[in-house]
Amino acid sequence: MSLTALQGDITRLQVDAIVNAANSSLLGGGGVDGAIHRAAGPDLVHECRLLGGCKTGDAKLTRGYRLPARHIVHTVGPVWRGGSAGEPEALASCYARSIEIAAAAGVRSIAFPSISTGIFGYPIEQASRVAIASVRRAIAQHPAIESVVYCCFSAADLAVYEAALRELDPA
Ligand code: ADP
Repeated sequence: MSLTALQGDITRLQVDAIVNAANSSLLGGGGVDGAIHRAAGPDLVHECRLLGGCKTGDAKLTRGYRLPARHIVHTVGPVWRGGSAGEPEALASCYARSIEIAAAAGVRSIAFPSISTGIFGYPIEQASRVAIASVRRAIAQHPAIESVVYCCFSAADLAVYEAALRELDPA
């Protein structure tokens, strides 16, 4: 199993599934959500409309349409409210549910954006640790997932994930 971080645009990655940091309506938004909807094309929102939204910490699957990725896992991260309103548990659940749903769809490679650390304001040092710990737990239950990539949008974000990987996953 490989757990790595890279800098890039998640809509360009050639993986079986990419994860979208969506909002609970699943009807599109800013940040990575907007980029994914633009790149996937208008059929994506049509499928999303049929899903009835998504709760914080949960995830739902769609096709990838015009993306190189065959599937999109839409998950809704928590809005940061200071850290004692269940944010770490909700964020961990996003990663765990995404892996679970992807594994059920036969996904072997998956890429995550840095969920909740944009508009939702979750401090990235803390979020990266939750992201790594939760993915490690989840893939132990789903060994068919061979590769997990943290797709960081900026060089600064990548540096944070690489430091966290060195600390938490020194392999
Ligand atoms: P949230 O509302 O969950 O905070 P955002 O989309 O605002 O979601 O931010 C999540 C992360 O996604 C941020 O680190 C942001 O820089 C990053 N991001 C934005 N566009 C892309 C993209 N095309 N590919 C990968 N990451 C992206």
